[in-house]
Amino acid sequence: MKNKSIIFTQRPKEMPSLDNFLVQDEKTPSLSNGQILLKSLYISVDPYLRGRMNNMKSYIPPFEVGQPMKSGIIAKVIKSKNKNFSEESYFYGELDWKIFQVSDGRGLFPIDEGLAPLSSYLGVMGGTGFAAYFGLLEIGKPKEGETLVVSGAAGAVGLTVAQIGKIKGCRVVGIAGSDEKVKKLENEFGLDSAINYKNNENMVEDIKNACPNGVDIYFDNVGGPVSDAVISNANNFCRIPVCGAISQYNESKLSLGPRLNPFVISRRIKMEGFIVFDYAHRYMEAQMQLGKWIKEGKISLEETIVEGFEEIPGAFLGLFSGKNTGKMIVKI
Ligand code: NDP
Repeated sequence: MKNKSIIFTQRPKEMPSLDNFLVQDEKTPSLSNGQILLKSLYISVDPYLRGRMNNMKSYIPPFEVGQPMKSGIIAKVIKSKNKNFSEESYFYGELDWKIFQVSDGRGLFPIDEGLAPLSSYLGVMGGTGFAAYFGLLEIGKPKEGETLVVSGAAGAVGLTVAQIGKIKGCRVVGIAGSDEKVKKLENEFGLDSAINYKNNENMVEDIKNACPNGVDIYFDNVGGPVSDAVISNANNFCRIPVCGAISQYNESKLSLGPRLNPFVISRRIKMEGFIVFDYAHRYMEAQMQLGKWIKEGKISLEETIVEGFEEIPGAFLGLFSGKNTGKMIVKI
């Protein structure tokens, strides 16, 4: 069995490149008692990995140069010397970017293939679905008839937020980075309106036109100028779940935008940042509800699947130029 790993070689200053990664051959490890041999099947690439490439204190430790990259992985147990893990069963875990690796089973979660397809546990049925579910329902608190604006609307979190927004009876307006994505959001995913932020001379005006009753909830996945334009259209008591700021992840210094405090005060806006782990004790609830909505055809499992272990770094970099619709996943 031929094994390979992907090593983190150097910290990027701004936009990362393929030079930050090295694909290398590796021996397939042998098993000791209590261990299992895992084969990676689906590997998640996510914007937050960019933050872990910086040597900065955060809610999750930075990657170490010279060590394998890690992310959420769906793996199959190939051999087992641990009675709690049967061969041919599937698990999710935060694992190394390796084709084969051993584990003692700690931090692995069983996957129910009967409930949803394996890859969906990296998307709607996993962390990105949970971020959408808790961020929108707990912080956004949508009510029927309200207007919800979602940035990064064609991505993994954004598309799930938009669809939950429709389930809750909101007018949903999405912001995304191409005309093709805009058409898809309106025609395939039932959004009421969508805006291309890349091909746009007056975002503030376009958002105003798309939201004739103003913005009641803004689910923020991107930060930067897009968010500035949405927030200037906020209604009184607007709620803003701050989920991500991908437009700023490759900046070497903090950028300055409009000073929003007067808006926030006069319109009594509530902005709340969150990390999906904050809701770990309720993941099961989210998974059951999301699984039900998938079965009812109310949420679709949109994925962009890139094939091949060596393609993982390229798929990760593609997130920063919008190469994905739905969850970006690498199939091994
Ligand atoms: P996506 O699937 O949305 O992929 C990233 C998308 O971001 C791209 O497809 C691209 O789409 C868009 N994008 C890239 N660069 C920019 C830019 N400069 N300005 C605006 N949009 C840009 O990723 P996820 O759904 O996994 O994550 C979405 C956001 O949520 C990220 O910021 C991520 O860090 C965050 N997140 C936070 C979590 C939490 O716990 N708080 C959990 C999971 C994700 P386009 O073509 O539209 O530009």
